[in-house]
Amino acid sequence: MQRLILHGGAGSIPPSRHPEVERGLRAALEAGWSRIDHATDAVEAAIQSMEASGLFDAGLGSVLNLQGRVEMDAALMTHDLQVGAVAGLTRTAHPISVARQVMEQTPHVLLAGPGADRFARALGFPPVRIRPPRRVAVYQDLRRKLEASVRSRGKGNSRDPMDPARPEWWPRLQALVAAHPELLHGTVGAVALDAKGRLTAGTSTGGITLKMEGRVSDSCLPGCGTYADPTVGVSCTGTGEVIIRHTLGRAVAETLRASGLPLDRAVRRVIRPLPRGTAGLIALDRKGRFGWGRNTENLAFTFRSDRTTTPVVRMA
Ligand code: ASP
Repeated sequence: MQRLILHGGAGSIPPSRHPEVERGLRAALEAGWSRIDHATDAVEAAIQSMEASGLFDAGLGSVLNLQGRVEMDAALMTHDLQVGAVAGLTRTAHPISVARQVMEQTPHVLLAGPGADRFARALGFPPVRIRPPRRVAVYQDLRRKLEASVRSRGKGNSRDPMDPARPEWWPRLQALVAAHPELLHGTVGAVALDAKGRLTAGTSTGGITLKMEGRVSDSCLPGCGTYADPTVGVSCTGTGEVIIRHTLGRAVAETLRASGLPLDRAVRRVIRPLPRGTAGLIALDRKGRFGWGRNTENLAFTFRSDRTTTPVVRMA
């Protein structure tokens, strides 16, 4: 039995972008399916394709943080609880592959910040400057709005009121991000099951536009945005802070086991209590059943099984 399911993020995806997102998903499905002999290879290949496309908030398409820089997170987890993750990578086209190397080559689970960048360099991942023009334009616009709001409400007591590391920015930042749900989409993820029964889940993200420097997403945290165990694999997308508080990936697995519900109903049960507009996820269990759910306007996803000839792409 072979299965592959992918997502390209949750949130509100403007209809004008649907064709290119669908194209990106189709290409990734093809790339992943060509490696379906091994679940981990399939997940890595599918995510690499989306990271390289520049169409998603991952790898070369990553969004910019408050300082206008890229900080990327990724994780990969397998059914036997092997897991590797990276946080805050700044110059690597394929964070998912660095996460895999953490899993396979180190005694650790998660490498973060400069250490993660150095690990990538030591393994020969070429340094890449990531500054997608579309992301830069959005960043500049939002940054201007944020500066205007800090200026009008700031206490005027700081040496440099436009220094985004200052506390007066934080509440304004939260309000701005809440007012722009379109900022939340484009993280990528995949779950695969191969003929040997191996199940792997992976997720890669540039995080959320205007996030504070050093902010870590759910995507790279095992049990939160990425989870796999012998029963099920899960990749989440949405507001990382909500997904982390609810340890969403693990919640799907626990609910599936405890309730005996089919996967799609277990997914719905887990998403129901979350604040609206905050999360979407894909899942795949060891019996080969797909699950997906969202409480956002859209979830871009696609899947393929060895029993169907036509892969399905949806912007549900
Ligand atoms: N979950 C990601 C994060 O919080 C964002 C997303 O899925 O769009 O960084």
